Amino acid sequence: MHTTALVLFSGGQDSTTCLAHALERYERVETIAFDYRQRHHVELVARLEVLSQIRQQFPHWASKMGEDHLLDLAVLGSVSETSLTRDTAFKMEQSGLPNTFVPGRNLLFLTLAAAVAYRRDLQVIVTGVCETDFSGYPDCRDDTMKAMQLALSLGMDKRFLIETPLMWIDKAATWRLAHELGGRALVDLIVEHTHTCYLGERSVRHDWGYGCGHCPACELRARGWAQYVGAAAA
Ligand code: ZN
Repeated sequence: MHTTALVLFSGGQDSTTCLAHALERYERVETIAFDYRQRHHVELVARLEVLSQIRQQFPHWASKMGEDHLLDLAVLGSVSETSLTRDTAFKMEQSGLPNTFVPGRNLLFLTLAAAVAYRRDLQVIVTGVCETDFSGYPDCRDDTMKAMQLALSLGMDKRFLIETPLMWIDKAATWRLAHELGGRALVDLIVEHTHTCYLGERSVRHDWGYGCGHCPACELRARGWAQYVGAAAA
């Protein structure tokens, strides 16, 4: 029986939904994020605000929320050249992957998360990776997660469970899941406080939240929101 979890929590829509999922399910939940000199510090600020809002608005979850870990991963900026860490425009590469792809980034995140989970005695690692996402990052696929779960469990001689509540659902279903977990209040919190936009834009407010409105992350979020609201109205 699993009772404790560590959530990879970036402060976006997906990881906030994953956090709510873990808080509904487990007795003690800690959070972790990585600072790899993202172009936009706004993400790291947003995640603290989301944590604070959850504590205020969901007292039954607040009592389960434990330590929040922020690991410095500046080294990632020196090994990869992508539009998330360098000042280059977002585009799709010939490989079919967007240039936001940092090879192996998620493998590194999971390995470090497992090391923290080991030290903090947390059993489940929850991550918002998703195969239905447009990006198709190979280090977010289900097979990769299963392989990592095995590698980390063997390599640390401790049984870890990697849980991926969003793996097979689209963005509209992610909004629905948030509603199931925390009702309208959670959906509103996600709209208002989570950050997804690749350009770090938070000056324009749309129905679905803040963002530039035209980067791939904003488009995905807006499209999912439109489907979610449309289905709810129908
Ligand atoms: Zn955007």
